Amino acid sequence: MIVLKTTKELDLMKKACALSARVLRLAGEMVEPGVTTGAIDKRVREWFAKAGATPVFLHYNGFPAAACISINNEVIHGIPSPKRVIQPGDLVSIDLGAKLNGYIGDNAATFAAGDISPEAKRLSDTTREALYVGIRAACTGGRVGDIGAAVQSYCEARGYSLVRDYTGHGVGRELHEDPSVPNFGTPGRGARLLPGMTIAIEPMVNQGKKEIRTLEDNWTVRTRDGSLSAHFEHTIAITANGPVILTVED
Ligand code: MG
Repeated sequence: MIVLKTTKELDLMKKACALSARVLRLAGEMVEPGVTTGAIDKRVREWFAKAGATPVFLHYNGFPAAACISINNEVIHGIPSPKRVIQPGDLVSIDLGAKLNGYIGDNAATFAAGDISPEAKRLSDTTREALYVGIRAACTGGRVGDIGAAVQSYCEARGYSLVRDYTGHGVGRELHEDPSVPNFGTPGRGARLLPGMTIAIEPMVNQGKKEIRTLEDNWTVRTRDGSLSAHFEHTIAITANGPVILTVED
């Protein structure tokens, strides 16, 4: 069931989303060689606590941390650890979300640790742009498939593939609400986009093939062929005047 949000609910979501955006920026500023992913997660917990918010990923289906931090060929759901030291040239994807006053903001971005290869930069830049391409396709009266089709054609034209096994999603009081928002699709197909819908659009783009596998820790998802992967995500609202990005700082 798709839950449409009232104006009042959208205002509450904006607050959770603005906090999520701020904490993601701060976490990204910590990304550099020598820093551990565990240290970043620790600060994320502190920033959320200070703001009176709950890190929505912590304990979600048993996930043991506040942020998912996935490096290089890891796509999503990397578990932060004080033993995982970021190396020069790493591509570091951070995904995190705040729950504040009952509403959730969800966002992700890929950050560079020092100088990264031109190939890594091109992948990261393409994934960020694919997110905005997807957002621009999220118009009232359109369909969920319009978003996926736009993301897919943008990335595939540049030689990349889209992860199929994980998707964007509705978000609000719950982290994962209907509809699911795949990063592939057919224009004009899928659920209709209506004012008051709030969704997370999150292209997960692989340099090589689309197939993934889950590591023995039962969380970390990496590319099956070992190629690099990048991930960007915003929570947005569908409005009569077009898509509005909610995960931006105040
Ligand atoms: Mg998400």
